Amino acid sequence: MTRVDVMRPFLGAEEIAAVTATLESGWLAQGPKVAEFESVFAARMDAAHAVAVSSCTTALHLALVVAGIGAGDDVVVPSLSFVATANAVRYVGARPVFADIDRLTGNVTPDSVKRVLTPSTRAVIAVDQGGVPVDLTGIRALCDPLGIVVVEDAACGAGSTHRGRPVGAGADIAAWSFHPRKILTTGEGGMITTSNGEWAARARALREHATSRSAADRHRVTLPAAESYTEVAFNYRMTDLQAAVGVVQVGRLDEIVARRREWAQRYRDDLAAVRGLRCVADPEDGTGNAQSFWVEVTEAAARDRDGYLEALAARDVSARRGIMAIHRQPAYAESDAVVGDLTVTDHLTDNTLILPLFHAMTEEQYRRVVDTLTASS
Ligand SMILES: *Cc1c(COP(=O)(O)O)cnc(C)c1O
Repeated sequence: MTRVDVMRPFLGAEEIAAVTATLESGWLAQGPKVAEFESVFAARMDAAHAVAVSSCTTALHLALVVAGIGAGDDVVVPSLSFVATANAVRYVGARPVFADIDRLTGNVTPDSVKRVLTPSTRAVIAVDQGGVPVDLTGIRALCDPLGIVVVEDAACGAGSTHRGRPVGAGADIAAWSFHPRKILTTGEGGMITTSNGEWAARARALREHATSRSAADRHRVTLPAAESYTEVAFNYRMTDLQAAVGVVQVGRLDEIVARRREWAQRYRDDLAAVRGLRCVADPEDGTGNAQSFWVEVTEAAARDRDGYLEALAARDVSARRGIMAIHRQPAYAESDAVVGDLTVTDHLTDNTLILPLFHAMTEEQYRRVVDTLTASS
């Protein structure tokens, strides 16, 4: 019996060939493959501009910088998210204000954001948690008239849709992840997409030390003119090796999401018979990509969440506790972050588990998960 992992990336011979060709080209760092990846990603996500970076964490950091967020500003974020969502706020010296979430989607809502607005709120980071599309339209209807920037943390969201468009397309600026735990992978990597050309240009500069001439520009001529550095910036570049993988991965997105949604629907159908388990579902105004297929273990269930996790581990199934709550982490214990009523966040982080779901999951692996949950009830 082999272990059933919670997630495995879906990669093939095409990615290997793309990396080999890039190695042979002799251009390894940010160059033509990064530019190609940006252009195919922007087209697929219905975005005017795409800027590749080293991770979603650095994408979120740059998004806040180009939006002009800094010390003295409040930024609303969900606590039920990966820690990077709130860390980015602290990188720019702003104050995270945690908003609670909807129990059915795990996402912040216009109401939960509205409840925590302060006179200093300058931005909201709305997360498509686990790939479930957040109500970006509703959140923008609240924020736009107040001049509050809406950043979408679409780390988990590639291939999800909101009102018939790719998630991220409706945000002022969105941040994406290509970590292997996400839908598309480049090993590590991230992307910014935005409708704002000035923000895109500034992010492009900031990822490369704000140099007046990029390495690619300098390479084009034999004796380049001296470059200058216009402000203190960062090395947040993606490599061409990563981007070569990314170009192939974007081409697989529809197939990956279709397969994941099939597995998710089978889980929903098969687990409907297990008393007390509630599977995450699509919201009314969108479709998810099943990036993290989570199940709420309600009071009616035969065991608690950890009981199910132990039963699964005993059959060599590597499920996971539900999404973390940032406000409970030691890094936030002494911080200035604003922690109000987070009842639903606490409930979901304590009572959900994430089931294995990946492209090449076998029938035997799937049955083992479902049979274990059914037999433990
Ligand atoms: C994974 C994740 C990130 C961080 O992505 P990296 O590419 O690993 O930096 C940020 N936000 C959310 C919601 C995530 O799930």
